[in-house]
Amino acid sequence: MTSFEELTTQEKPTWCPGCGNFGILTALKNAIVELNLPKHEVVIVAGIGCSGHLPQWINTFAFHSLHGRALPVAQAIKLANHKLKVIAVGGDGDGYGIGTAHFIHAMRRNVNITYIVHNNQIYGLTTGQASPTSEKGFKSKSTPHGLIEPPVNPIALALASDCSFVARGFAGDVKHLTHLIVQGIQHKGFALIDVLQPCISFNYLNTYEYFMKRVYKLEEDNSYNFTNKRLAFEKAFEWGEKIPIGLFYKEERKTYEDELPQIAEIPLVKQNINEIDISSLIEEMC
Ligand code: SF4
Repeated sequence: MTSFEELTTQEKPTWCPGCGNFGILTALKNAIVELNLPKHEVVIVAGIGCSGHLPQWINTFAFHSLHGRALPVAQAIKLANHKLKVIAVGGDGDGYGIGTAHFIHAMRRNVNITYIVHNNQIYGLTTGQASPTSEKGFKSKSTPHGLIEPPVNPIALALASDCSFVARGFAGDVKHLTHLIVQGIQHKGFALIDVLQPCISFNYLNTYEYFMKRVYKLEEDNSYNFTNKRLAFEKAFEWGEKIPIGLFYKEERKTYEDELPQIAEIPLVKQNINEIDISSLIEEMC
Protein backbone atom coordinates (compact mmCIF):
# COMPACT_ATOMS: atom_id res chain seq x y z
CA MET A 1 0.00 0.00 0.00
CA THR A 2 1.08 3.61 0.43
CA SER A 3 4.40 4.33 2.16
CA PHE A 4 5.44 7.51 3.96
CA GLU A 5 7.96 8.23 1.16
CA GLU A 6 5.28 7.92 -1.52
CA LEU A 7 3.23 10.55 0.28
CA THR A 8 6.19 12.95 0.37
CA THR A 9 6.35 15.41 -2.50
CA GLN A 10 9.53 16.73 -4.12
CA GLU A 11 8.59 20.27 -3.12
CA LYS A 12 9.65 21.22 0.40
CA PRO A 13 7.21 23.00 2.75
CA THR A 14 7.68 26.76 2.95
CA TRP A 15 6.31 27.03 6.49
CA CYS A 16 8.56 28.81 9.00
CA PRO A 17 11.11 26.31 10.37
CA GLY A 18 9.73 24.93 13.64
CA CYS A 19 6.08 25.73 12.86
CA GLY A 20 3.51 23.38 14.39
CA ASN A 21 2.14 22.68 10.91
CA PHE A 22 5.03 20.27 10.34
CA GLY A 23 3.85 18.04 13.18
CA ILE A 24 0.33 17.94 11.73
CA LEU A 25 1.59 17.09 8.23
CA THR A 26 3.74 14.25 9.62
CA ALA A 27 0.88 12.91 11.75
CA LEU A 28 -1.50 12.96 8.79
CA LYS A 29 0.97 11.07 6.59
CA ASN A 30 1.60 8.57 9.41
CA ALA A 31 -2.15 8.01 9.76
CA ILE A 32 -2.64 7.36 6.02
CA VAL A 33 0.24 4.86 6.11
CA GLU A 34 -1.03 3.17 9.28
CA LEU A 35 -4.51 2.78 7.79
CA ASN A 36 -3.05 1.43 4.53
CA LEU A 37 -5.11 3.89 2.52
CA PRO A 38 -4.32 3.88 -1.21
CA LYS A 39 -3.26 7.45 -1.94
CA HIS A 40 -5.56 7.71 -4.98
CA GLU A 41 -8.53 7.14 -2.68
CA VAL A 42 -7.68 10.06 -0.41
CA VAL A 43 -8.74 13.66 -1.10
CA ILE A 44 -7.49 16.49 1.07
CA VAL A 45 -9.45 19.74 0.89
CA ALA A 46 -7.92 22.91 2.29
CA GLY A 47 -9.13 26.38 3.11
CA ILE A 48 -6.93 29.49 3.07
CA GLY A 49 -4.11 30.28 5.48
CA CYS A 50 -0.73 28.76 6.34
CA SER A 51 -2.51 25.42 6.88
CA GLY A 52 -4.11 25.76 3.45
CA HIS A 53 -0.76 24.96 1.83
CA LEU A 54 -0.67 21.48 3.35
CA PRO A 55 -2.08 19.62 0.31
CA GLN A 56 0.86 20.88 -1.77
CA TRP A 57 3.19 18.73 0.32
CA ILE A 58 1.32 15.46 0.53
CA ASN A 59 0.95 13.24 -2.49
CA THR A 60 -2.81 12.53 -2.58
CA PHE A 61 -5.63 14.13 -4.53
CA ALA A 62 -6.37 17.63 -3.26
CA PHE A 63 -8.53 20.71 -3.64
CA HIS A 64 -7.36 24.11 -2.40
CA SER A 65 -10.67 25.91 -1.88
CA LEU A 66 -11.71 29.41 -0.79
CA HIS A 67 -11.37 31.04 2.63
CA GLY A 68 -13.72 29.32 5.08
CA ARG A 69 -15.11 27.04 2.37
CA ALA A 70 -13.17 23.81 2.79
CA LEU A 71 -16.15 22.03 4.36
CA PRO A 72 -18.73 22.69 1.61
CA VAL A 73 -16.24 21.40 -0.97
CA ALA A 74 -15.29 18.40 1.17
CA GLN A 75 -18.95 17.47 1.71
CA ALA A 76 -19.69 17.80 -2.01
CA ILE A 77 -16.77 15.51 -2.90
CA LYS A 78 -17.91 12.95 -0.34
CA LEU A 79 -21.50 12.96 -1.59
CA ALA A 80 -20.36 12.69 -5.22
CA ASN A 81 -18.14 9.70 -4.41
CA HIS A 82 -18.57 8.36 -0.90
CA LYS A 83 -15.98 5.62 -1.52
CA LEU A 84 -13.24 8.26 -1.15
CA LYS A 85 -11.63 9.19 2.16
CA VAL A 86 -12.17 12.92 2.42
CA ILE A 87 -10.10 14.98 4.85
CA ALA A 88 -10.56 18.74 5.23
CA VAL A 89 -7.83 20.92 6.74
CA GLY A 90 -7.86 24.58 7.73
CA GLY A 91 -6.95 27.08 10.38
CA ASP A 92 -8.90 28.58 13.26
CA GLY A 93 -9.60 31.79 11.34
CA ASP A 94 -10.73 29.75 8.36
CA GLY A 95 -12.93 27.24 10.18
CA TYR A 96 -14.02 28.98 13.37
CA GLY A 97 -14.34 32.50 11.92
CA ILE A 98 -15.04 32.82 8.21
CA GLY A 99 -16.45 29.29 7.88
CA THR A 100 -18.37 29.04 11.17
CA ALA A 101 -21.77 28.44 9.57
CA HIS A 102 -20.39 25.63 7.41
CA PHE A 103 -18.66 24.16 10.46
CA ILE A 104 -21.86 23.98 12.51
CA HIS A 105 -24.05 22.56 9.76
CA ALA A 106 -21.49 20.01 8.56
CA MET A 107 -21.32 18.62 12.09
CA ARG A 108 -25.06 18.23 12.60
CA ARG A 109 -25.33 16.76 9.08
CA ASN A 110 -22.78 14.07 10.00
CA VAL A 111 -21.24 13.64 6.55
CA ASN A 112 -18.47 11.04 6.88
CA ILE A 113 -15.41 13.30 6.62
CA THR A 114 -12.50 14.20 8.89
CA TYR A 115 -11.81 17.85 9.69
CA ILE A 116 -8.37 18.78 11.06
CA VAL A 117 -8.16 22.35 12.35
CA HIS A 118 -4.68 23.84 12.75
CA ASN A 119 -5.58 26.01 15.71
CA ASN A 120 -2.69 28.44 16.21
CA GLN A 121 -4.90 31.11 17.81
CA ILE A 122 -3.76 33.76 15.34
CA TYR A 123 -3.92 34.73 11.65
CA GLY A 124 -0.40 33.62 10.69
CA LEU A 125 -0.41 34.02 6.90
CA THR A 126 -1.37 37.69 7.19
CA THR A 127 1.43 38.17 9.76
CA GLY A 128 -0.29 38.13 13.12
CA GLN A 129 -3.80 39.43 13.73
CA ALA A 130 -6.09 38.15 16.51
CA SER A 131 -8.20 35.18 15.42
CA PRO A 132 -11.48 33.70 16.75
CA THR A 133 -9.54 31.52 19.22
CA SER A 134 -7.05 34.14 20.47
CA GLU A 135 -7.28 34.48 24.22
CA LYS A 136 -8.99 37.48 25.88
CA GLY A 137 -6.39 40.18 26.46
CA PHE A 138 -4.14 38.83 23.67
CA LYS A 139 -2.00 41.59 22.13
CA SER A 140 -1.45 41.47 18.38
CA LYS A 141 -1.13 43.81 15.42
CA SER A 142 -4.91 44.11 15.28
CA THR A 143 -5.38 44.28 19.07
CA PRO A 144 -2.47 46.39 20.41
CA HIS A 145 -4.34 47.10 23.67
CA GLY A 146 -5.44 43.50 24.16
CA LEU A 147 -8.34 41.52 22.72
CA ILE A 148 -11.67 42.47 24.26
CA GLU A 149 -13.87 39.48 23.43
CA PRO A 150 -13.50 35.92 24.80
CA PRO A 151 -12.44 33.17 22.37
CA VAL A 152 -14.62 30.71 20.48
CA ASN A 153 -14.52 27.33 22.24
CA PRO A 154 -14.39 24.86 19.32
CA ILE A 155 -14.81 21.75 21.47
CA ALA A 156 -17.95 23.08 23.19
CA LEU A 157 -19.30 24.39 19.88
CA ALA A 158 -18.78 20.97 18.28
CA LEU A 159 -20.52 19.19 21.16
CA ALA A 160 -23.45 21.61 20.97
CA SER A 161 -23.66 21.07 17.21
CA ASP A 162 -24.08 17.30 17.53
CA CYS A 163 -20.63 16.45 16.19
CA SER A 164 -20.26 12.67 16.44
CA PHE A 165 -16.47 12.64 17.04
CA VAL A 166 -14.79 15.48 18.93
CA ALA A 167 -11.06 15.42 19.68
CA ARG A 168 -8.15 17.73 20.38
CA GLY A 169 -4.49 17.04 19.63
CA PHE A 170 -1.20 18.88 20.06
CA ALA A 171 1.20 19.40 17.15
CA GLY A 172 4.12 18.86 19.55
CA ASP A 173 3.02 15.26 20.23
CA VAL A 174 3.00 13.65 16.79
CA LYS A 175 2.51 10.09 18.03
CA HIS A 176 -0.63 11.00 19.97
CA LEU A 177 -1.93 13.18 17.14
CA THR A 178 -1.37 10.35 14.63
CA HIS A 179 -3.50 8.09 16.79
CA LEU A 180 -6.29 10.69 16.96
CA ILE A 181 -6.25 11.17 13.17
CA VAL A 182 -6.38 7.40 12.65
CA GLN A 183 -9.41 7.22 14.94
CA GLY A 184 -11.00 10.22 13.23
CA ILE A 185 -10.64 8.71 9.76
CA GLN A 186 -11.96 5.35 10.98
CA HIS A 187 -14.97 6.99 12.60
CA LYS A 188 -18.17 6.70 10.58
CA GLY A 189 -19.41 10.28 10.60
CA PHE A 190 -18.07 13.81 10.93
CA ALA A 191 -14.83 13.84 12.97
CA LEU A 192 -13.38 17.09 14.31
CA ILE A 193 -9.75 17.10 15.38
CA ASP A 194 -8.82 20.50 16.77
CA VAL A 195 -5.01 20.72 16.95
CA LEU A 196 -3.09 23.08 19.22
CA GLN A 197 -0.55 24.34 16.72
CA PRO A 198 2.13 26.81 17.84
CA CYS A 199 2.77 29.64 15.37
CA ILE A 200 6.37 30.41 16.28
CA SER A 201 6.53 33.60 14.22
CA PHE A 202 3.56 35.57 15.51
CA ASN A 203 2.00 33.97 18.59
CA TYR A 204 4.41 34.46 21.49
CA LEU A 205 1.85 33.37 24.08
CA ASN A 206 0.68 29.92 22.97
CA THR A 207 4.11 28.40 22.36
CA TYR A 208 5.36 24.79 22.50
CA GLU A 209 6.58 25.47 26.02
CA TYR A 210 3.19 26.91 27.03
CA PHE A 211 1.40 23.78 25.87
CA MET A 212 3.98 21.26 27.06
CA LYS A 213 3.54 22.56 30.61
CA ARG A 214 -0.24 22.29 30.43
CA VAL A 215 -1.49 19.50 28.18
CA TYR A 216 -2.55 16.16 29.60
CA LYS A 217 -4.23 13.19 27.93
CA LEU A 218 -7.87 12.42 28.69
CA GLU A 219 -7.26 8.71 28.14
CA GLU A 220 -4.85 8.69 31.09
CA ASP A 221 -7.81 9.45 33.37
CA ASN A 222 -9.47 6.05 33.82
CA SER A 223 -12.68 7.64 35.07
CA TYR A 224 -13.19 9.63 31.84
CA ASN A 225 -15.94 8.28 29.61
CA PHE A 226 -15.96 9.68 26.06
CA THR A 227 -19.59 8.62 25.47
CA ASN A 228 -20.80 10.97 28.22
CA LYS A 229 -21.62 14.32 26.61
CA ARG A 230 -22.14 16.10 29.92
CA LEU A 231 -18.63 15.11 31.00
CA ALA A 232 -17.26 16.14 27.61
CA PHE A 233 -18.80 19.61 28.05
CA GLU A 234 -17.13 19.95 31.43
CA LYS A 235 -13.75 19.08 29.94
CA ALA A 236 -14.34 21.43 27.00
CA PHE A 237 -14.23 24.36 29.40
CA GLU A 238 -11.00 23.30 31.08
CA TRP A 239 -8.36 25.78 29.86
CA GLY A 240 -5.65 27.31 32.00
CA GLU A 241 -3.15 25.49 34.17
CA LYS A 242 -4.33 22.25 32.62
CA ILE A 243 -5.49 21.68 29.05
CA PRO A 244 -6.97 18.30 28.07
CA ILE A 245 -6.14 16.63 24.75
CA GLY A 246 -7.49 13.38 23.34
CA LEU A 247 -10.94 12.09 22.48
CA PHE A 248 -13.60 14.20 24.21
CA TYR A 249 -16.69 12.59 22.73
CA LYS A 250 -17.79 9.93 20.31
CA GLU A 251 -21.17 8.53 19.32
CA GLU A 252 -22.39 6.15 16.62
CA ARG A 253 -25.20 7.40 14.45
CA LYS A 254 -26.19 7.26 10.79
CA THR A 255 -24.20 9.40 8.42
CA TYR A 256 -25.82 11.79 5.97
CA GLU A 257 -24.92 9.39 3.16
CA ASP A 258 -26.62 6.51 4.98
CA GLU A 259 -29.86 8.47 4.84
CA LEU A 260 -29.74 8.82 1.05
CA PRO A 261 -31.14 5.67 -0.61
CA GLN A 262 -30.14 7.05 -4.03
CA ILE A 263 -26.46 6.46 -3.29
CA ALA A 264 -26.72 3.54 -0.90
CA GLU A 265 -25.48 0.99 -3.43
CA ILE A 266 -23.57 2.95 -6.05
CA PRO A 267 -21.69 6.26 -5.58
CA LEU A 268 -23.19 9.13 -7.54
CA VAL A 269 -20.21 9.40 -9.90
CA LYS A 270 -20.57 5.75 -10.94
CA GLN A 271 -24.26 5.95 -11.78
CA ASN A 272 -25.43 5.80 -15.36
CA ILE A 273 -27.08 9.10 -16.17
CA ASN A 274 -27.28 8.57 -19.93
CA GLU A 275 -30.71 7.02 -19.83
CA ILE A 276 -32.36 9.53 -17.54
CA ASP A 277 -35.06 11.42 -19.43
CA ILE A 278 -35.37 14.97 -18.10
CA SER A 279 -37.38 16.38 -21.01
CA SER A 280 -40.62 16.65 -18.96
CA LEU A 281 -38.73 18.54 -16.27
CA ILE A 282 -37.30 20.97 -18.83
CA GLU A 283 -40.75 21.47 -20.31
CA GLU A 284 -42.17 22.29 -16.89
CA MET A 285 -39.43 24.89 -16.30
CA CYS A 286 -39.86 26.57 -19.70
FE1 SF4 B 1 3.58 28.55 10.88
FE2 SF4 B 1 3.02 30.92 11.91
FE3 SF4 B 1 4.94 30.67 10.07
FE4 SF4 B 1 2.38 30.37 9.41
S1 SF4 B 1 3.35 32.25 10.15
S2 SF4 B 1 4.07 29.06 8.76
S3 SF4 B 1 1.52 29.38 11.22
S4 SF4 B 1 4.95 29.79 12.13
